[in-house]
Amino acid sequence: MKHFFLYAILAPLALASIVAMSWPIIVSIFRREGVWGINAWRTKCPECGHPFPIIRWPANERQALWGGGTCARCGTEADKWGNRILKQPVEADSEST
Ligand SMILES: [Zn+2]
Repeated sequence: MKHFFLYAILAPLALASIVAMSWPIIVSIFRREGVWGINAWRTKCPECGHPFPIIRWPANERQALWGGGTCARCGTEADKWGNRILKQPVEADSEST
C-alpha cells in the first residue's frame, strides 16, 4: 500500500481535471463546429464543393486565429469544419456606413 494517496486520489483527480479542461475541444471535435479542436481532414466549400487548399493563406483575423478559408471559386467563407460563416449583423452595418 505504498503511494496509496498518489494512485487512489491524485491520479484520478489529475485525469479528471485534464478531461474537464479539454472538454470544449472534445465537444468541438465531436460536433464538428465551433472554434476549438483540430480538423485533420480536408474540407470542401459548403456552397460549391470546391476543396480548400491544404496550405492556406488567412484572409482575415478570424481565419488566422481559428482556421477556415475563403473559397477560391465562389468566395464563400467557411470555418475549419467546412461550415458556412454567416455574416454578423454588426459587420453588415459597418460595411453599409
Ligand atoms: Zn465555393
